[in-house]
Amino acid sequence: MRCHETIDVAILGAGIAGSCMAVLLARRGWKVVLIDRRSFPRHKTCGEFLSPEAVGSLIALGMEPRLRTLRPSIFHRARLVTGSRASIIVQLPGAAWGINRYDLDEALHEEARLEGAEVATETAVSAIRLRSGGYELVTKRGAELTAIRPRAVIGAWGGNGHVAEMPDARRGRPAPCPYVGVKTHLSGIKADGELELYFFKGGYMGLSSAGDGIVNAAALLDKRAFRSMPVSVNGWLEAAGALNPRLARRLAEARPVTGTHAAVAPVRLFDAPLAWNGIPLIGDACVTIPPLCGDGMSMAIRSAQLCAIGADRYLRGETTLEEWEASYVMAISRQFRGPLRWGRLLQRTAGNPSFAMLAAAVASRLPGVVNRLVKATRLGKMDDLPW
Ligand SMILES: Cc1cc2nc3c(=O)[nH]c(=O)nc-3n(C[C@H](O)[C@H](O)[C@H](O)COP(=O)(O)OP(=O)(O)OC[C@H]3O[C@@H](n4cnc5c(N)ncnc54)[C@H](O)[C@@H]3O)c2cc1C
Repeated sequence: MRCHETIDVAILGAGIAGSCMAVLLARRGWKVVLIDRRSFPRHKTCGEFLSPEAVGSLIALGMEPRLRTLRPSIFHRARLVTGSRASIIVQLPGAAWGINRYDLDEALHEEARLEGAEVATETAVSAIRLRSGGYELVTKRGAELTAIRPRAVIGAWGGNGHVAEMPDARRGRPAPCPYVGVKTHLSGIKADGELELYFFKGGYMGLSSAGDGIVNAAALLDKRAFRSMPVSVNGWLEAAGALNPRLARRLAEARPVTGTHAAVAPVRLFDAPLAWNGIPLIGDACVTIPPLCGDGMSMAIRSAQLCAIGADRYLRGETTLEEWEASYVMAISRQFRGPLRWGRLLQRTAGNPSFAMLAAAVASRLPGVVNRLVKATRLGKMDDLPW
């Protein structure tokens, strides 16, 4: 077995949280390896809507020039459509971008490489063990086993990732959860500068431009509302359309683009944040905000920024692991509490058809309330982030 001794930080999971973390720490001069068990680029279950807050964070991280080359679609408003009622328009607090995850994750990996991080994809981690002065990870790529000995390990493995053997893991097996996320790209229809969100019994679906005449369709479905869960992308498009006539009309000419669909289950919408489980956790590994809020990526980036502060200080020897844990857990609790509370309230409302109808009727008369509610799901500004 090969052995890698000179690593400062291993980040497990190369989605948006892990990639941003790799950029931040590599930029500080730390030797970083960013590991993902899957291959890239690939399509991921996501609405591909970068909220104004997420865009602001990526710009603050210096990613704007690279991301501009991907020619993001620009949105200034969202249209909420419930049943056959008139739709509700919500003005966004700034420009949101549409960039497909296939390109976005890859662009972030390139940025991480440019900053000096090693990106190791198709690499599984079977164990994280404590050793004096840090950790030992056993990784497997094809038939090749490697031992990596980093001083710190960060979990960025999304909502369903884990490593079988971990030190000090505190949370056991999670409760069953009925939510499923699905997405595909569509051709044959157009989306013009706004995010469309269609609600139906048991879920919602977002449509937004993915550039080049392609529309991204992403849906969150509650399995309990479907007698049998659709087994194909076409199946769930039809199932969702059957529950919202305006969505059905919108999708009448749409054709799924081969090779772009993805699904994820379960999507754990109501679990308490778990910022530290033997090691720090960032992004969806820490907590998931309902996709309805369109802010998961913004929260993933923020958690990486918050965690990077402690990681840098720990690696410099300026703080202990316990102090890093305490400050990161507190920062997550303070910053995420409000958006999670409101996001989950909106999710519960959307999942209850009578409530949703009532809320839609009120919202169509009081658009200011909707804007304030959307704002309540957003992270507060942080001007004192060191990066
Ligand atoms: C239906 C749906 C629609 C959404 N729409 C939006 C939206 O429009 N806008 C928005 O901001 N957010 C949206 N989100 C949320 C957003 O996709 C997530 O919050 C975001 O992807 C989290 O990023 P992450 O880096 O934490 O996780 P991920 O992007 O999931 O990355 C985790 C990575 O870890 C890897 N991994 C897993 N296990 C291991 C392991 N053991 N070792 C190594 N690697 C591992 C995986 O292969 C994966 O690449 C949506 C979510 C859903 C379900």
